[in-house]
Amino acid sequence: MANKRDKTESDVTTHDGLNPYTIVKDLLKESVTRLELSDNIYEILKKPMRLFEVSLPVRMDNGEVQNFTGYRCQHIDILGPTKGGIRFHPAVTVDEVKALSIWMSLKSAILDLPLGGGKGGVIVEPGELSDRELEILSRTYIRKITPIIGPEKDIPAPDVNTTPEMMGWMIDEFDQLRGYNIPGMITGKPIIIGGSLGRLEATGRGVVLTIQEAAKVLEIDLSKATAAIQGFGNVGSMTAKFLDELGVKILAVTDAKGGIYKKDGLNIPELIKFVQEGNHASEYSEAESISNEEMFGLEVDILIPAAIENQITKDTAPTIKAKILAEAANGPTTPEGDAILEEKDIFVIPDILCNAGGVTVSYFEWVQNSMNYYWSEKEINQKLEEHMVFGFESIIKMRDKEKCRMRQAAYMVGVNHIVKALSARGWIKDSDLSSKE
Ligand code: NAD
Repeated sequence: MANKRDKTESDVTTHDGLNPYTIVKDLLKESVTRLELSDNIYEILKKPMRLFEVSLPVRMDNGEVQNFTGYRCQHIDILGPTKGGIRFHPAVTVDEVKALSIWMSLKSAILDLPLGGGKGGVIVEPGELSDRELEILSRTYIRKITPIIGPEKDIPAPDVNTTPEMMGWMIDEFDQLRGYNIPGMITGKPIIIGGSLGRLEATGRGVVLTIQEAAKVLEIDLSKATAAIQGFGNVGSMTAKFLDELGVKILAVTDAKGGIYKKDGLNIPELIKFVQEGNHASEYSEAESISNEEMFGLEVDILIPAAIENQITKDTAPTIKAKILAEAANGPTTPEGDAILEEKDIFVIPDILCNAGGVTVSYFEWVQNSMNYYWSEKEINQKLEEHMVFGFESIIKMRDKEKCRMRQAAYMVGVNHIVKALSARGWIKDSDLSSKE
């Protein structure tokens, strides 16, 4: 299991009160306006089509029953079944899963995947649960959302604090209920039961592919570049691995417990091994300690938030010196932080492009499951690269045409793609469309 951690320790995180659903709706509205589309399109896109809340009673090891709350949200399924991860975190809210489901729709649209957006969450601090309690909670969650998921409806995957091992428990529960083996019901599962080669690395690999494209635009030689990463879970550690392989020096890494810094660059393979052995990156002794705030202000070429929402704020953005901000996490930048990044002319690789490698290889996993025929890792990585480069180039083209920022351009590419499907299905009239082309 990747990034196995001591379950007695809690990954405490903070949210600064900014509502991600409000942020995503504002950005959708702005894209619809800039694209000169009618407000009817915003009316359709602003609300997820389905939101499911479930109660999850679990008998804990001490004999008491604790009733957790879970959600599954499906944004829109006009391009294909909805798809998106499941997050286990104490700060999960209804508005967070709504926002995350909309981001999933946009990612799939930008990368030309025949999928809609979905997302799930359970309000829990998984580090406080025993393995048995976590397994029961995972199985109970899947049982409760079974009526609305399935390979033709909505396909979950891992997200914050959920792992391939947990996907294995979840598919097993679903199969037992249905009475047969349905490999395409979930992605990010262990390879032996139908997982895809390259899925574990996919999000980080995709992040690095977009950094490589950005470096071409900015004429940065990555073999001489430096980086800092917030979050060293699946996405952060895999991003570090692929950057390290390109010769990028990773000077600092932080996680929920703290951070580490080394002026000449951290030994990334050793650090990944250390974390896989159950430690936090911040406990690694071969480096100095550093806070999140200090890490954001480091003199590095590339800064990569790969943890949670609302980290690049009005307080942290002014200190940033990086040339590229690669948003590996979902929603890491607040609107105020974003405005500061724009003033500072920092090249932002927006989350809905930057971390879309995960859903892309999840899509490949689902395709392989439905064919019951499996591709080589080389084939998967090639196809991933094609999709990531296609997404990056579409956004650059839109940015140059509309003279806007990368984030706005990304939203506009995504919205435009969804609008074509709305039109083809007769949800909107010609008068709702722009005369612009
Ligand atoms: P993970 O649970 O594997 O790792 C999260 C990491 O963030 C951990 O190292 C944790 O200690 C750290 N962290 C949490 N709060 C922090 C804080 N306040 N400060 C510093 N570090 C903190 O999760 P993940 O799967 O790597 O996901 C990270 C981000 O990437 C999330 O925003 C997720 O939605 C997004 N994402 C993940 C995938 C995927 O395939 N896993 C795909 C797309 C997007």
